[in-house]
Amino acid sequence: MLIRMKKEATADQISFVKSQMDERTLEFYQTVFWGQEVLVVQESFDSSKLHDASLFWASLLEVSGVEEILVIPPRDHQRTLTSYYAKKERTKVEIGPLAVGNGHYAIIGGPCTVENEEQLVETAKSVKKSGASGLRGGAYKPRTSPYAFQGMREEGLKLLAKAREATGLPIVTEAMTPEELPLVAQYADVVQIGTRNMQNYRLLEGAGKLRIPVLLKRGFSATIDEFLMAAEYILLGGNDQVILCERGIRTFENDTRFTLALGAVPLLKGRTHLPIIVDPSHATGYYKHVPAMAAAATAAGADGLLIEVHPDPQKALCDGRQSLTFEEFEQTVVACKKIREIVNVTDLISKYDTGVDRERVIPVPHRLESYIQAQNAMS
Ligand code: PEP
Ligand code: MN
Repeated sequence: MLIRMKKEATADQISFVKSQMDERTLEFYQTVFWGQEVLVVQESFDSSKLHDASLFWASLLEVSGVEEILVIPPRDHQRTLTSYYAKKERTKVEIGPLAVGNGHYAIIGGPCTVENEEQLVETAKSVKKSGASGLRGGAYKPRTSPYAFQGMREEGLKLLAKAREATGLPIVTEAMTPEELPLVAQYADVVQIGTRNMQNYRLLEGAGKLRIPVLLKRGFSATIDEFLMAAEYILLGGNDQVILCERGIRTFENDTRFTLALGAVPLLKGRTHLPIIVDPSHATGYYKHVPAMAAAATAAGADGLLIEVHPDPQKALCDGRQSLTFEEFEQTVVACKKIREIVNVTDLISKYDTGVDRERVIPVPHRLESYIQAQNAMS
Protein backbone atom coordinates (compact mmCIF):
# COMPACT_ATOMS: atom_id res chain seq x y z
CA MET A 1 0.00 0.00 0.00
CA LEU A 2 1.14 3.49 -0.71
CA ILE A 3 -0.59 6.29 1.18
CA ARG A 4 -0.07 9.64 -0.45
CA MET A 5 -0.81 12.64 1.74
CA LYS A 6 -2.09 15.90 0.28
CA LYS A 7 0.53 18.59 -0.36
CA GLU A 8 -1.11 20.74 2.31
CA ALA A 9 -1.43 17.90 4.85
CA THR A 10 -0.54 19.08 8.36
CA ALA A 11 1.88 17.37 10.74
CA ASP A 12 -1.10 16.42 12.93
CA GLN A 13 -2.90 14.77 10.03
CA ILE A 14 0.19 12.78 9.14
CA SER A 15 0.62 11.75 12.79
CA PHE A 16 -2.97 10.61 12.91
CA VAL A 17 -2.51 8.34 9.88
CA LYS A 18 0.67 6.97 11.44
CA SER A 19 -1.16 6.25 14.67
CA GLN A 20 -3.71 4.25 12.68
CA MET A 21 -0.86 2.17 11.23
CA ASP A 22 0.53 1.61 14.72
CA GLU A 23 -2.88 0.55 16.00
CA ARG A 24 -3.07 -2.18 13.38
CA THR A 25 0.63 -2.99 13.95
CA LEU A 26 1.34 -2.31 10.31
CA GLU A 27 4.96 -1.76 9.33
CA PHE A 28 5.37 1.52 7.46
CA TYR A 29 8.08 3.79 6.09
CA GLN A 30 7.65 7.52 5.69
CA THR A 31 9.34 9.60 3.01
CA VAL A 32 8.78 12.40 0.52
CA PHE A 33 7.93 11.27 -2.98
CA TRP A 34 7.46 13.82 -5.74
CA GLY A 35 6.98 16.61 -3.24
CA GLN A 36 4.38 14.81 -1.16
CA GLU A 37 4.64 12.92 2.11
CA VAL A 38 3.99 9.21 1.57
CA LEU A 39 3.78 6.15 3.76
CA VAL A 40 4.90 2.85 2.28
CA VAL A 41 2.96 0.16 4.12
CA GLN A 42 4.03 -3.45 3.99
CA GLU A 43 0.77 -5.33 4.41
CA SER A 44 -0.14 -8.76 3.15
CA PHE A 45 -3.82 -9.54 3.21
CA ASP A 46 -5.48 -12.47 4.80
CA SER A 47 -8.61 -13.46 2.87
CA SER A 48 -10.49 -14.26 6.06
CA LYS A 49 -10.06 -10.64 7.14
CA LEU A 50 -10.80 -9.11 3.77
CA HIS A 51 -13.95 -7.34 4.86
CA ASP A 52 -12.27 -5.83 7.87
CA ALA A 53 -9.27 -4.74 5.82
CA SER A 54 -11.35 -3.08 3.14
CA LEU A 55 -13.38 -1.22 5.76
CA PHE A 56 -10.18 -0.02 7.36
CA TRP A 57 -8.60 1.22 4.14
CA ALA A 58 -11.83 2.76 2.90
CA SER A 59 -12.16 4.66 6.20
CA LEU A 60 -8.56 5.82 5.99
CA LEU A 61 -9.30 7.25 2.58
CA GLU A 62 -11.77 9.59 4.32
CA VAL A 63 -9.21 10.91 6.80
CA SER A 64 -8.35 14.58 6.23
CA GLY A 65 -4.98 15.07 4.64
CA VAL A 66 -5.03 11.73 2.78
CA GLU A 67 -4.98 12.25 -0.98
CA GLU A 68 -5.01 8.67 -2.23
CA ILE A 69 -4.19 5.13 -1.28
CA LEU A 70 -2.69 2.88 -3.91
CA VAL A 71 -2.81 -0.88 -3.81
CA ILE A 72 0.64 -1.97 -4.97
CA PRO A 73 0.63 -5.49 -6.46
CA PRO A 74 2.35 -8.07 -4.22
CA ARG A 75 5.17 -8.63 -6.73
CA ASP A 76 6.15 -4.97 -6.32
CA HIS A 77 5.98 -4.74 -2.51
CA GLN A 78 9.73 -4.68 -2.01
CA ARG A 79 10.03 -1.92 -4.55
CA THR A 80 6.90 0.09 -4.01
CA LEU A 81 8.25 3.54 -4.88
CA THR A 82 10.02 2.42 -8.06
CA SER A 83 6.93 0.45 -9.09
CA TYR A 84 5.12 1.43 -12.23
CA TYR A 85 1.99 1.71 -10.07
CA ALA A 86 3.38 4.37 -7.75
CA LYS A 87 2.99 7.30 -10.17
CA LYS A 88 0.55 8.52 -12.79
CA GLU A 89 3.29 9.45 -15.22
CA ARG A 90 6.74 8.18 -16.07
CA THR A 91 9.52 10.11 -14.41
CA LYS A 92 11.41 12.78 -16.27
CA VAL A 93 14.81 13.66 -14.82
CA GLU A 94 15.89 17.10 -15.94
CA ILE A 95 19.08 19.04 -15.30
CA GLY A 96 19.48 22.10 -17.54
CA PRO A 97 19.72 20.89 -21.14
CA LEU A 98 19.68 17.23 -20.08
CA ALA A 99 16.21 15.66 -19.95
CA VAL A 100 15.62 11.91 -19.79
CA GLY A 101 12.45 9.87 -19.45
CA ASN A 102 8.72 10.35 -20.03
CA GLY A 103 9.29 10.91 -23.74
CA HIS A 104 12.63 12.71 -23.40
CA TYR A 105 15.78 11.19 -24.89
CA ALA A 106 19.34 12.32 -24.19
CA ILE A 107 22.87 11.28 -25.05
CA ILE A 108 25.66 11.67 -22.51
CA GLY A 109 29.19 11.44 -23.90
CA GLY A 110 32.69 11.83 -22.55
CA PRO A 111 35.84 10.03 -21.51
CA CYS A 112 35.95 7.07 -19.16
CA THR A 113 38.18 9.10 -16.91
CA VAL A 114 39.30 12.71 -16.62
CA GLU A 115 42.98 12.84 -17.60
CA ASN A 116 43.84 16.52 -18.00
CA GLU A 117 42.19 19.83 -18.84
CA GLU A 118 42.89 19.75 -22.55
CA GLN A 119 41.56 16.20 -23.02
CA LEU A 120 38.40 16.96 -21.06
CA VAL A 121 37.50 20.41 -22.38
CA GLU A 122 38.25 19.39 -25.97
CA THR A 123 36.01 16.31 -25.55
CA ALA A 124 33.26 18.33 -23.86
CA LYS A 125 33.18 20.85 -26.73
CA SER A 126 33.17 18.14 -29.32
CA VAL A 127 30.40 16.01 -27.79
CA LYS A 128 28.29 19.13 -27.34
CA LYS A 129 28.75 20.05 -31.00
CA SER A 130 27.70 16.52 -31.95
CA GLY A 131 24.43 16.80 -30.03
CA ALA A 132 25.18 15.38 -26.60
CA SER A 133 23.33 17.02 -23.73
CA GLY A 134 25.51 15.76 -20.88
CA LEU A 135 29.20 15.21 -20.21
CA ARG A 136 30.47 12.07 -18.48
CA GLY A 137 33.93 11.56 -16.93
CA GLY A 138 35.18 9.72 -13.86
CA ALA A 139 37.35 11.39 -11.24
CA TYR A 140 37.06 8.48 -8.79
CA LYS A 141 37.51 5.27 -10.74
CA PRO A 142 36.58 1.76 -9.61
CA ARG A 143 39.46 -0.20 -11.17
CA THR A 144 39.74 -3.96 -11.11
CA SER A 145 43.48 -3.75 -10.48
CA PRO A 146 44.91 -1.61 -7.70
CA TYR A 147 47.84 -0.80 -10.01
CA ALA A 148 45.59 0.73 -12.68
CA PHE A 149 44.99 4.52 -12.85
CA GLN A 150 42.60 5.36 -10.01
CA GLY A 151 41.41 8.75 -11.26
CA MET A 152 42.37 12.36 -10.55
CA ARG A 153 40.00 12.61 -7.58
CA GLU A 154 39.21 16.20 -6.52
CA GLU A 155 41.51 17.64 -9.22
CA GLY A 156 39.39 15.74 -11.74
CA LEU A 157 36.18 17.15 -10.25
CA LYS A 158 37.59 20.67 -10.65
CA LEU A 159 38.35 20.00 -14.31
CA LEU A 160 34.81 18.71 -14.80
CA ALA A 161 33.50 21.97 -13.36
CA LYS A 162 35.70 23.85 -15.85
CA ALA A 163 34.37 21.78 -18.74
CA ARG A 164 30.81 22.56 -17.61
CA GLU A 165 31.69 26.24 -17.53
CA ALA A 166 33.12 26.04 -21.04
CA THR A 167 30.16 24.19 -22.56
CA GLY A 168 27.13 24.46 -20.29
CA LEU A 169 26.86 20.66 -20.28
CA PRO A 170 25.76 19.09 -16.98
CA ILE A 171 28.34 16.65 -15.64
CA VAL A 172 27.88 13.02 -14.70
CA THR A 173 30.58 11.60 -12.46
CA GLU A 174 30.98 8.66 -10.11
CA ALA A 175 31.18 8.40 -6.33
CA MET A 176 32.34 5.10 -4.87
CA THR A 177 31.89 5.53 -1.13
CA PRO A 178 29.41 7.30 1.16
CA GLU A 179 32.32 9.44 2.40
CA GLU A 180 33.07 10.64 -1.14
CA LEU A 181 29.47 11.59 -1.86
CA PRO A 182 29.36 15.14 -0.40
CA LEU A 183 32.46 16.25 -2.30
CA VAL A 184 31.40 14.63 -5.57
CA ALA A 185 27.90 16.07 -5.23
CA GLN A 186 29.38 19.53 -4.72
CA TYR A 187 30.78 19.44 -8.28
CA ALA A 188 28.49 16.99 -10.09
CA ASP A 189 25.10 17.59 -11.67
CA VAL A 190 24.40 13.86 -11.65
CA VAL A 191 26.14 11.38 -9.36
CA GLN A 192 26.87 8.02 -10.94
CA ILE A 193 26.82 4.81 -8.92
CA GLY A 194 28.78 2.18 -10.83
CA THR A 195 27.99 -1.44 -11.52
CA ARG A 196 30.33 -2.68 -8.76
CA ASN A 197 28.55 -0.53 -6.20
CA MET A 198 24.94 -1.21 -7.13
CA GLN A 199 24.57 -3.21 -3.94
CA ASN A 200 26.61 -0.91 -1.70
CA TYR A 201 23.65 -0.16 0.51
CA ARG A 202 25.27 2.56 2.62
CA LEU A 203 26.20 4.34 -0.62
CA LEU A 204 22.64 3.99 -1.90
CA GLU A 205 21.32 5.43 1.37
CA GLY A 206 23.75 8.33 1.01
CA ALA A 207 22.52 8.90 -2.54
CA GLY A 208 18.98 8.97 -1.16
CA LYS A 209 19.90 11.99 0.92
CA LEU A 210 21.18 13.95 -2.09
CA ARG A 211 18.97 16.42 -3.85
CA ILE A 212 20.59 15.99 -7.24
CA PRO A 213 19.92 13.16 -9.71
CA VAL A 214 21.61 9.79 -9.43
CA LEU A 215 22.54 7.58 -12.38
CA LEU A 216 22.40 4.02 -11.08
CA LYS A 217 24.11 1.35 -13.16
CA ARG A 218 22.89 -2.24 -13.09
CA GLY A 219 25.22 -4.57 -11.22
CA PHE A 220 26.77 -6.87 -13.80
CA SER A 221 25.48 -9.87 -11.86
CA ALA A 222 22.26 -8.32 -10.63
CA THR A 223 18.75 -9.37 -11.57
CA ILE A 224 16.20 -6.78 -12.65
CA ASP A 225 14.49 -7.13 -9.27
CA GLU A 226 17.75 -6.49 -7.40
CA PHE A 227 18.40 -3.51 -9.67
CA LEU A 228 15.01 -2.00 -8.84
CA MET A 229 15.39 -2.65 -5.13
CA ALA A 230 18.75 -0.84 -5.22
CA ALA A 231 16.94 2.14 -6.80
CA GLU A 232 14.25 1.79 -4.11
CA TYR A 233 16.87 2.57 -1.43
CA ILE A 234 17.51 5.92 -3.12
CA LEU A 235 13.82 6.74 -3.52
CA LEU A 236 13.03 5.73 0.04
CA GLY A 237 15.73 8.15 1.15
CA GLY A 238 13.69 10.93 -0.43
CA ASN A 239 15.56 11.32 -3.73
CA ASP A 240 13.22 10.50 -6.60
CA GLN A 241 15.59 11.71 -9.33
CA VAL A 242 16.99 8.36 -10.41
CA ILE A 243 18.09 7.30 -13.90
CA LEU A 244 18.61 3.56 -14.39
CA CYS A 245 21.40 2.41 -16.70
CA GLU A 246 21.72 -1.01 -18.32
CA ARG A 247 25.44 -1.54 -18.96
CA GLY A 248 25.78 -5.24 -19.68
CA ILE A 249 25.84 -8.33 -17.50
CA ARG A 250 28.22 -11.27 -16.98
CA THR A 251 27.37 -14.36 -19.00
CA PHE A 252 29.36 -17.34 -20.33
CA GLU A 253 30.28 -15.25 -23.39
CA ASN A 254 33.91 -14.16 -23.41
CA ASP A 255 34.12 -12.55 -26.82
CA THR A 256 32.39 -9.39 -25.65
CA ARG A 257 33.37 -7.60 -22.43
CA PHE A 258 29.87 -8.09 -21.02
CA THR A 259 26.55 -9.08 -22.60
CA LEU A 260 24.25 -6.18 -23.35
CA ALA A 261 20.90 -7.20 -21.91
CA LEU A 262 18.70 -5.04 -24.13
CA GLY A 263 15.65 -6.99 -23.08
CA ALA A 264 15.98 -5.10 -19.81
CA VAL A 265 14.64 -1.98 -21.54
CA PRO A 266 11.08 -3.15 -22.31
CA LEU A 267 11.05 -5.21 -19.13
CA LEU A 268 11.91 -2.21 -16.96
CA LYS A 269 9.45 -0.02 -18.85
CA GLY A 270 6.71 -2.34 -17.67
CA ARG A 271 7.91 -2.44 -14.08
CA THR A 272 8.95 1.09 -13.25
CA HIS A 273 8.25 4.72 -14.00
CA LEU A 274 11.98 5.57 -13.84
CA PRO A 275 13.91 6.44 -17.00
CA ILE A 276 16.24 3.79 -18.38
CA ILE A 277 19.32 4.55 -20.44
CA VAL A 278 21.87 2.19 -21.99
CA ASP A 279 25.68 2.19 -21.92
CA PRO A 280 26.86 0.33 -25.03
CA SER A 281 30.54 1.12 -24.27
CA HIS A 282 31.03 -1.00 -21.16
CA ALA A 283 28.56 -3.59 -22.43
CA THR A 284 30.51 -4.41 -25.58
CA GLY A 285 34.01 -3.30 -24.59
CA TYR A 286 34.87 -2.62 -28.22
CA TYR A 287 34.48 0.64 -30.15
CA LYS A 288 33.42 -1.10 -33.36
CA HIS A 289 30.39 -2.59 -31.61
CA VAL A 290 29.28 0.56 -29.85
CA PRO A 291 27.39 2.36 -32.68
CA ALA A 292 25.30 -0.72 -33.55
CA MET A 293 24.30 -1.33 -29.95
CA ALA A 294 23.60 2.36 -29.37
CA ALA A 295 21.24 2.22 -32.34
CA ALA A 296 19.63 -0.99 -31.12
CA ALA A 297 19.13 0.44 -27.63
CA THR A 298 17.46 3.51 -29.10
CA ALA A 299 15.15 1.36 -31.23
CA ALA A 300 14.30 -0.69 -28.14
CA GLY A 301 12.94 2.42 -26.45
CA ALA A 302 15.84 3.46 -24.19
CA ASP A 303 15.46 6.99 -22.84
CA GLY A 304 19.09 7.77 -23.58
CA LEU A 305 22.66 6.60 -23.97
CA LEU A 306 25.90 6.86 -22.02
CA ILE A 307 28.87 6.62 -24.38
CA GLU A 308 32.63 6.83 -23.87
CA VAL A 309 34.49 9.25 -26.14
CA HIS A 310 38.19 10.14 -26.24
CA PRO A 311 40.23 12.52 -28.46
CA ASP A 312 42.78 9.74 -29.02
CA PRO A 313 41.39 6.40 -27.78
CA GLN A 314 44.68 4.56 -28.24
CA LYS A 315 46.27 6.82 -25.66
CA ALA A 316 43.38 6.71 -23.16
CA LEU A 317 44.34 5.90 -19.57
CA CYS A 318 41.23 3.81 -19.19
CA ASP A 319 38.82 1.96 -21.52
CA GLY A 320 40.42 3.18 -24.77
CA ARG A 321 39.36 0.02 -26.61
CA GLN A 322 35.69 0.86 -26.15
CA SER A 323 35.96 4.64 -26.61
CA LEU A 324 34.74 6.35 -29.75
CA THR A 325 36.65 9.09 -31.55
CA PHE A 326 34.91 12.46 -31.96
CA GLU A 327 33.92 11.56 -35.51
CA GLU A 328 32.57 8.14 -34.58
CA PHE A 329 30.58 9.68 -31.75
CA GLU A 330 29.07 12.29 -34.04
CA GLN A 331 28.01 9.64 -36.56
CA THR A 332 26.50 7.55 -33.77
CA VAL A 333 24.54 10.50 -32.39
CA VAL A 334 23.19 11.42 -35.82
CA ALA A 335 22.13 7.82 -36.51
CA CYS A 336 20.52 7.34 -33.09
CA LYS A 337 18.58 10.58 -33.31
CA LYS A 338 17.23 9.50 -36.71
CA ILE A 339 16.22 6.12 -35.30
CA ARG A 340 14.55 7.86 -32.41
CA GLU A 341 12.44 9.82 -34.89
CA ILE A 342 11.57 6.86 -37.09
CA VAL A 343 10.63 4.49 -34.30
CA ASN A 344 7.71 6.12 -32.65
CA VAL A 345 8.94 5.33 -29.21
CA THR A 346 5.95 6.83 -27.46
CA ASP A 347 3.67 4.47 -29.38
CA LEU A 348 5.98 1.59 -28.75
CA ILE A 349 6.05 2.30 -25.05
CA SER A 350 2.30 2.65 -24.84
CA LYS A 351 2.22 -0.91 -26.18
CA TYR A 352 4.19 -2.04 -23.16
CA ASP A 353 1.40 -0.56 -21.10
CA THR A 354 -1.25 -2.75 -22.72
CA GLY A 355 -3.04 -4.79 -20.14
CA VAL A 356 -1.49 -2.91 -17.29
CA ASP A 357 -4.11 -1.37 -15.11
CA ARG A 358 -2.75 2.03 -14.35
CA GLU A 359 -5.91 3.74 -13.28
CA ARG A 360 -5.93 5.01 -9.73
CA VAL A 361 -6.40 2.11 -7.43
CA ILE A 362 -8.44 2.45 -4.31
CA PRO A 363 -8.81 -0.36 -1.80
CA VAL A 364 -12.40 -1.32 -2.36
CA PRO A 365 -13.29 -4.98 -1.64
CA HIS A 366 -13.25 -6.27 -5.23
CA ARG A 367 -9.81 -4.74 -5.67
CA LEU A 368 -8.54 -6.43 -2.57
CA GLU A 369 -9.96 -9.70 -3.80
CA SER A 370 -7.92 -9.63 -7.00
CA TYR A 371 -5.00 -8.52 -4.91
CA ILE A 372 -5.32 -11.58 -2.68
CA GLN A 373 -5.54 -13.81 -5.75
CA ALA A 374 -2.26 -12.33 -7.00
CA GLN A 375 -0.74 -12.72 -3.57
CA ASN A 376 -1.75 -16.38 -3.43
CA ALA A 377 -0.48 -17.01 -6.93
CA MET A 378 2.92 -15.84 -5.81
CA SER A 379 3.22 -18.12 -2.80
C1 PEP B 1 32.21 3.92 -16.12
O1 PEP B 1 31.12 4.39 -16.46
O2 PEP B 1 33.30 4.40 -16.46
C2 PEP B 1 32.21 2.68 -15.32
C3 PEP B 1 33.22 2.35 -14.52
O3 PEP B 1 31.11 1.95 -15.54
P1 PEP B 1 30.60 0.59 -14.88
O4 PEP B 1 30.40 0.88 -13.43
O5 PEP B 1 29.35 0.29 -15.64
O6 PEP B 1 31.69 -0.45 -15.12
MN1 MN C 1 34.90 3.24 -18.43
